[in-house]
Amino acid sequence: MSRTDDLLKIRSLLQERRRTTETAQSGARRELAALKDQERDPEYEEQAQAELADYTLSTLIEAQRREIMLIDAALSRMDNDVFGECVDCGNEISLDRLEAMPFAIRCEEDAALHEQETREAARHVGSLSL
Ligand SMILES: [Zn+2]
Repeated sequence: MSRTDDLLKIRSLLQERRRTTETAQSGARRELAALKDQERDPEYEEQAQAELADYTLSTLIEAQRREIMLIDAALSRMDNDVFGECVDCGNEISLDRLEAMPFAIRCEEDAALHEQETREAARHVGSLSL
C-alpha cells in the first residue's frame, strides 16, 4: 500500500472515531442534564453521590471535547495536505507513528526534543514561583 492509501485509511479511522466520540458525548451530556434535574429536587437524598457522578461526567465530556478538537485538527491538516508532515523539520512522520498516534504533529526526534524543552520550560517556571 502506498503512503496515500495509508493516510486515507487513517482518515476514515479518524472520521469513524469522531462519530463514535460524538455519540458518546451526547449520551454523557444527556446523563449530566438528567443528573442536574435530579439535583435540583430538594427531596433528593443522594447529593454527594450525584456530585461525584456530575464531576465524572463533566471530566468525560471535557476529554471527549478535546479528542474531537484533536481529530478536527488532524482532519484539517489532511485537507491542507500537511498531515503527516513534522511541523518542526517538515519531514514525513513515519506511518507506524501516525497509526499509533494519528494526532502526532512532530516526527519522533522532534517530539522528544519538544518534550524536553517543555519540561525544561516548566521547570524554569517552577523555579520562578519559588
Ligand atoms: Zn521533525
